[in-house]
Amino acid sequence: MTIPIAIEPVSRNDAGIAAALPLLARRFGERFAQSEAVRQQHGHTLTWLTNQPPDGVVFVESTEEVVDIVRICGEHRVPIIPFGAGSSLEGHLNAPGGGISIDFTHMKRVIAVHGEDLDCVIEPGITHYELNEYLRDTGLFFPIDPGAEASLGGMAATRASGTNAVRYGTMRDNVINLTAVMPDGSVVKTGNRAKKSSAGYDLARLLIGSEGTLGVITELTLKLHGIPEAISGGVCPFPTVEDACNAVIMTIQSGIPVARIELLDALQVKACNAYSKLDLEEVPTLFVEFHGS
Ligand SMILES: Cc1cc2nc3c(=O)[nH]c(=O)nc-3n(C[C@H](O)[C@H](O)[C@H](O)COP(=O)(O)OP(=O)(O)OC[C@H]3O[C@@H](n4cnc5c(N)ncnc54)[C@H](O)[C@@H]3O)c2cc1C
Repeated sequence: MTIPIAIEPVSRNDAGIAAALPLLARRFGERFAQSEAVRQQHGHTLTWLTNQPPDGVVFVESTEEVVDIVRICGEHRVPIIPFGAGSSLEGHLNAPGGGISIDFTHMKRVIAVHGEDLDCVIEPGITHYELNEYLRDTGLFFPIDPGAEASLGGMAATRASGTNAVRYGTMRDNVINLTAVMPDGSVVKTGNRAKKSSAGYDLARLLIGSEGTLGVITELTLKLHGIPEAISGGVCPFPTVEDACNAVIMTIQSGIPVARIELLDALQVKACNAYSKLDLEEVPTLFVEFHGS
């Protein structure tokens, strides 16, 4: 259900947008879409905010193409909104002042997997599911799973985490370096593949979580992890939420290799029972998963 929420008006640079659209159409041909349906799809995905579509969508295939878009839009002062998989919830993709959506769904290449160094180099449009599918016979995996079919560029831009964060951290902890196009069209690579480096500003950490506002990410080097030898899970009911929280604290303080730990209160357990026809006791409950050997 969409709940319309009043949004503060943002001024549109109509003259700049009118000047940029034909330049983008000439440069990108059929990969520049201006149809109502495509624009609507890029201005409103899972958010509860009213749809605010961009004026056009470019389906990019390389860093150089992103540079060209940023230069054209920069020259005409037209807003840019990078688009990963469109799973964000807070109106990240709305275009209140119009502008151009840069769609990364054509940039899904795995550029390199360095198994011995536990890292890989990828384009930003690939989703974490697709990357793990690609890695399935290497014994390695990428652990961050925010619960949505999200692109890794979008996950970096929103500093995504998820249930595995207890053990593996968030995107901030799992991006080694990235390449991004800055607002002036320059291309910045924030570091090399070495995990141990204290030299220079930590620009990767600045861009991670910047929600597409500081630069457009076009490549990422990610940490990989070995698939654990043993994975086991459990469901633990507790009399109170406080008891469940104390159990979590003791589990982590004891160094037990817990990978996921999620708390549902009695009402949430009731909702799960109703939805999934489960038969769980309707009390505060922890769902845990352990990774180890
Ligand atoms: C059911 C559900 C459960 C979720 N649970 C969690 C959770 O437990 N923990 C958690 O952390 N998050 C959670 N999320 C949020 C999730 O992390 C984000 O939706 C996801 O990371 C966004 O990725 P995306 O590819 O869909 O990005 P989009 O929605 O396409 O974009 C998100 C933002 O990133 C920017 N962006 C996208 N690509 C790039 C790029 N290449 N360069 C620069 N900026 C870019 C966009 O401009 C936008 O501002 C959940 C979402 C859903 C739908």
